[in-house]
Amino acid sequence: MLAILQKIVQEVNRARSLDDVLSIIVDKVHEAMDVDTASVYLTDFDREQHVLMATAGEGVGEGVDSLDSVRLNTGEGVVGLVARRAEPINLADASKHTNYKKFAGIDYDQFHAFLGVPIIHQRNVLGVLVVQRAEKKSFREDSVAFLVTLAAQLAGAIAHAEARGKGRSIEKIKSSTQRHFFRGQGSAPGVGIGTAVVIYPSADLMAVPDKEITDTDTEIFVYQDALARVVKDIEDMKERLGDNLKEDNRVLFDAYALLVNSDTIVDDVIEKIKAGNWAPGSLRDVITETSLKFKEMKDPYLRERADDILDLGQRIFLNLIDKDKKEIIYPKKTVLVGENIRATDLAEAPIKNIVAVVSNKGSSSSHIAILARAMDIPVVMGADGLDVAVIDTCKCIVDGYQGRLYIDPEQAIIDEYSLLEKEEGQLARQLKSLRKLPAETSDGKKMPLYVNTGLMADIGPSKKSGAEGVGLYRTEFPFMIRDSFPGEEEQSRIYRKTLSAFAPRPVTLRTLDVGGDKALPYFPIEEENPFLGWRGIRITLDHREIFLTQIRGMLRGAIGFDNLSILLPMISDLSELDEAVLLIDQAFTEMQDEGLAVTWPKIGAMIEVPSAVYQAEELAQRVDYLSIGTNDLTQYLLAVDRNNARVAKLYDSLHPAVLRAINQTVDAGHKYGRAVGVCGEMAGDPAAAILLLGMGVDNLSMAVASLPRVKWVIRSFSYRDARLMLTKALQFNSARETRNYLNSALDAAGLGGLIRAGKK
Ligand code: PEP
Ligand code: MG
Repeated sequence: MLAILQKIVQEVNRARSLDDVLSIIVDKVHEAMDVDTASVYLTDFDREQHVLMATAGEGVGEGVDSLDSVRLNTGEGVVGLVARRAEPINLADASKHTNYKKFAGIDYDQFHAFLGVPIIHQRNVLGVLVVQRAEKKSFREDSVAFLVTLAAQLAGAIAHAEARGKGRSIEKIKSSTQRHFFRGQGSAPGVGIGTAVVIYPSADLMAVPDKEITDTDTEIFVYQDALARVVKDIEDMKERLGDNLKEDNRVLFDAYALLVNSDTIVDDVIEKIKAGNWAPGSLRDVITETSLKFKEMKDPYLRERADDILDLGQRIFLNLIDKDKKEIIYPKKTVLVGENIRATDLAEAPIKNIVAVVSNKGSSSSHIAILARAMDIPVVMGADGLDVAVIDTCKCIVDGYQGRLYIDPEQAIIDEYSLLEKEEGQLARQLKSLRKLPAETSDGKKMPLYVNTGLMADIGPSKKSGAEGVGLYRTEFPFMIRDSFPGEEEQSRIYRKTLSAFAPRPVTLRTLDVGGDKALPYFPIEEENPFLGWRGIRITLDHREIFLTQIRGMLRGAIGFDNLSILLPMISDLSELDEAVLLIDQAFTEMQDEGLAVTWPKIGAMIEVPSAVYQAEELAQRVDYLSIGTNDLTQYLLAVDRNNARVAKLYDSLHPAVLRAINQTVDAGHKYGRAVGVCGEMAGDPAAAILLLGMGVDNLSMAVASLPRVKWVIRSFSYRDARLMLTKALQFNSARETRNYLNSALDAAGLGGLIRAGKK
């Protein structure tokens, strides 16, 4: 059974259209289960109907003009009941069931036994998979289990094929989104109106979408050019390696050379381009088909060649997009859209042209969202189901508060949002006027506001923002945009710019925190479970040469300023902290011996994993301060991947468990007289900031763009109110209740502009 199941799933995943997906499912189920008929109904949510979409065998869908004319209202018939109950129904004789109803297009006399299972994706019943037999005998337990498993496995593929199908026609997409909109996670506040520029993933051929083209000749030329470059690469490689090439590798290169000139790679792809798909999409199809053919071969040597074909496809693809990349044109107001927009995509774009970012994958706490927030660019993440390819060049509105994307919207919506965009500008100016005023509550409690940074471009705005220091400098950013690890000199120059710009105000430089979702192009880490793997301090303690070079760069950069704080990320064990402090001491002593006028920095530990919360007292005793990284703390406490759109709804730093953990950490730090700050994204959330104030957090560090909003909140409430609100919030059972409560409080205080587009 498992083998059949896997084969069906594989075939379905290979299908490119919803029709193909559904017909493969019914054909294969019909064959595998030995039933008289297999059919699939999908839910038409707009009309509240179940529509017959595909069938195999006889007796269903006969005598009607088209299958989709067979429509059952929600809850109607036994099929409707399966959908309503969202559970399988297995009957020896369906005609005896109270919900039984006859429909044109189904030959009822022919069937008795009925088994229907719901197809459920993300809690929505997408449809029903039905098998029927003439004999009056219910289905065996293992048949039910098989169909249930199959439906569960295929639900995602069906949902995506459905979304792709909808997206295939821009007209359909426009008509469904003019009044309505695509929904994602509002991940950076603000409104952006501009033209969509779609960024395609550069690394993975298998992830490229289809894209219609009009200029076939140019596309063929581009493809042939890429092929020619690959041929040259292979020849060069062979030549370079010369006699050192072992015989079996020589065969491999010869095979590559043969393949790259084969009819498949040359002619089949060109045929597909001529049929209207762009070169990467055509190449993907041909490579997938060919590699599968090889994979299914009996001869183990030939089976192995499947990987060579994939590799070759990837090589051609990289040559193709390299060419393509140069051609990206960013209009003055660009909405950057992609399946999975990465920090580098944003870094490569002319920032002044980017008015918003939309990414299908990822969530508010992905690093791309953090980066965009730092730049005050509205973001919608997790716009799952959006077929990005078809919206290229469309006019778009992005509402980063509510997580909405409008595509080619009606004029009335454009007018409405243009007004809100203007009001946003007014609000920003109003907030700017708070710049010189202290972040102080109405009853006189001061809350130092710091900025999170890591980009050179941040220095100017950060200084101007009235920030009282840098609470988190993510040193991985300068590491990311280089070809190799920067040396001590280079690092010290980079850090010095920020240290000098802010002196005498404190600057917190965090040691390298790569791993997880932050990769360095020149230091790839392949892991099954990267967020629980080699990350942050774990890497740098294993590579003390990297750690020591960085510490020396920091200490050298701070000479003459005396405002350096070093922050250690991902501490999950006391020994890591002890070891890191010893290494800092080693670097410091060596530099002193070298005659450098270094000064001993403040040292802090990040509290971002649950074990650190429980050992916060012990950690506090070893350092000068604690800094709570609520992004990772939320992820690890709630066991919710901060980048996974599928579970994004569960990721909320206002979750009662997270609030209690922060509260406990603040108390632990204060018990030993240590300052406790918050540097995760939560610090920049105006609603959450009230609670952090109430907890007695000593400073908040956030994206520079969030600073004026948080300052407005701090100045609008009293510490006493914040404490009362915290007491109340700690009694709620869910993040939703807390969010509603805080939003009402902001509204009541006249700060509604902080939670939605516009001023009010
Ligand atoms: C955090 O985890 O909250 C944090 C500030 O670090 P980063 O987002 O860089 O992982
Ligand atoms: Mg972190």
